Amino acid sequence: MSDPSDLRANEKVVDLAPASDAVLRFIGRVRTPWTHRDDCPRQGRHDGPECRLVLDSVWHDALNGLDDYPTIEVLYWLDKSRRDLVSQSPKSDGRTVGTFALRSPVRPNPIGTSIVKLERIEAGTLVVRGLDCLDGTPLIDIKPDRCAFTPKAPPKPGDSHIQDD
Ligand code: SAM
Repeated sequence: MSDPSDLRANEKVVDLAPASDAVLRFIGRVRTPWTHRDDCPRQGRHDGPECRLVLDSVWHDALNGLDDYPTIEVLYWLDKSRRDLVSQSPKSDGRTVGTFALRSPVRPNPIGTSIVKLERIEAGTLVVRGLDCLDGTPLIDIKPDRCAFTPKAPPKPGDSHIQDD
């Protein structure tokens, strides 16, 4: 997605070799009402429309226990993004900032994250509110919201600021 005509004033591109050092395994697709990027919200809202996380059947058992959480974290691959911008001018107003100072979909590894409201789970499909991505966006991962999550494994020394003697 490296089209020079996409660039705004002061934006800076780097010349990158094709990425080949990691392989993701998509676990399903996100179904949303939006088919054009301009129609997507910039960030999802918990009072937004219902969206669906449709998991490949091999992962259905991986959802066991997830319905204990009213909010969950979703990671997805913003697959229509270019990946070579170092600086971006999000508002076309002359203000330019570094890519890592933004939550723009344009980044070296276009991972999107949202904390969404889990409405219900229907046979391998999660019905959620709070997404902002295009219909068909590949799904990378799902986790309990870290604020609500209590680790299931025993504590480790690094979990606490209290030092052992
Ligand atoms: N909530 C995520 C985050 O903070 O990591 C993503 C935020 S990003 C600003 C959301 C925008 O990405 C949408 O408004 C849309 O313009 C764009 N977008 C959505 N789906 C996309 C996709 N599959 N590929 C590229 N861009 C996408």
